[in-house]
Amino acid sequence: MTCTYNPCDGLHFLANLYNCTECIHYLDNAPKLQQYCLAAVSKSKLTALGQLFHQFDNGGVTGTVVLAESHLAIHTWPESRTVTLDVYVSNYTKNNSHSARMLVDDLIHFFKPIDTTRHTIERNISFVSEMLSKDYGFILRSEKQLASFRTDFQSLEVHDTPQFGRVLRLGDHFQTSEKEEYFYHENLIHPALTTLKNPKRVLIIGGGDGGSAEEVIKHPSIEQVILVEIDCKVVEIAKEFFATIHNNVFNDPRFKLLIEDGFDFIVKNETHFDCIVLDIPDPIGSAQKLYEEEFLYHCKRSLVYGGILTLHLGAPIVNPSQAKLIYRYLKPIFSVVKLYTVFVPLYGNLWLMAACSDSFDPTSLSETEIDKRIQEREINDLQYYNGATHHGIFSLPNFLRNFIE
Ligand code: SAM
Repeated sequence: MTCTYNPCDGLHFLANLYNCTECIHYLDNAPKLQQYCLAAVSKSKLTALGQLFHQFDNGGVTGTVVLAESHLAIHTWPESRTVTLDVYVSNYTKNNSHSARMLVDDLIHFFKPIDTTRHTIERNISFVSEMLSKDYGFILRSEKQLASFRTDFQSLEVHDTPQFGRVLRLGDHFQTSEKEEYFYHENLIHPALTTLKNPKRVLIIGGGDGGSAEEVIKHPSIEQVILVEIDCKVVEIAKEFFATIHNNVFNDPRFKLLIEDGFDFIVKNETHFDCIVLDIPDPIGSAQKLYEEEFLYHCKRSLVYGGILTLHLGAPIVNPSQAKLIYRYLKPIFSVVKLYTVFVPLYGNLWLMAACSDSFDPTSLSETEIDKRIQEREINDLQYYNGATHHGIFSLPNFLRNFIE
């Protein structure tokens, strides 16, 4: 695994000094200007490696000091008593921002201009983006890329973002984040598990970040949760960077991790689960076959009677045909397919989920009954899910009602 730090971390100052009132005899004297700039560089604790100062016939000077940290460039127009400054420092190995600010302040103070324009550019600003379709996407500012490499299955990145804290990306798609993971994980797990009276065995396919498993074990009746993840690197990275999401579920005695393709697992599985959770990316790459009829049929075969399959169907506004297709696969296999929606901030959109069963309609439980179950099970740390949201998420807007029909 390789961790990369952004080599472009740095601070850039651009300033125009108009109508300088002091030391104006430096503006048409290259040797004196050079001497002062080198002294200012040294006072600011920056390291000069070389310099070139050239005087034009009209008296103006262009000068550059090459710094170990990057550069100072200065230009003068004596006839209008104008100076332009350009100072850039890289902060790759050490934070030099304070020194760069000192240098610019020093030069401004030296020439005492009547007017100044000053621009400060943080060069480390970088954005990560996700296209949900060829026409729609969104961006997130990344403060630092904490990890970036290719696994055997996908590209994997971890970013530190001001908006959502640490964010996991797989194959250019946002997966989960520290600050808003509960929108997705709580709503993928609790509508199904709260509906079940006494859930004991849960299978999660995918979900290598551990966020779904962490929600599952909040239900005290759980005896075993098996997580089948194709990519061991996702679990390794989750353990290293996303403790606030998995909350050490990987060490829980009820938790069992299998590194295996979910398709292969389900085809040969001969046991039964109270709940199966598909916590997988959209139907692309290794996840594609996990949304198709054969796999979904095996999921049903692997559920106890009355068990629930829960999954997401992607963004119905952006990709309605994908959601419709998955719904069409689910409908003949399960007699109850209840769609519900959740806005997921990290995915920048309304997300469609489904709870599928042969006997159980999750909307048949009252709001009071849901709240009672949450209380009896002593689940005290939910940030999203409660009896009212349970009914709220299953209340479909008309465009989705039509979509089912
Ligand atoms: N919340 C996410 C989303 O909807 O985008 C899903 C997050 S979870 C990290 C998705 C996991 O599914 C990934 O770690 C990926 O490696 C795993 N996965 C993809 N295809 C799989 C397969 N065939 N079997 C098991 N796991 C799979």
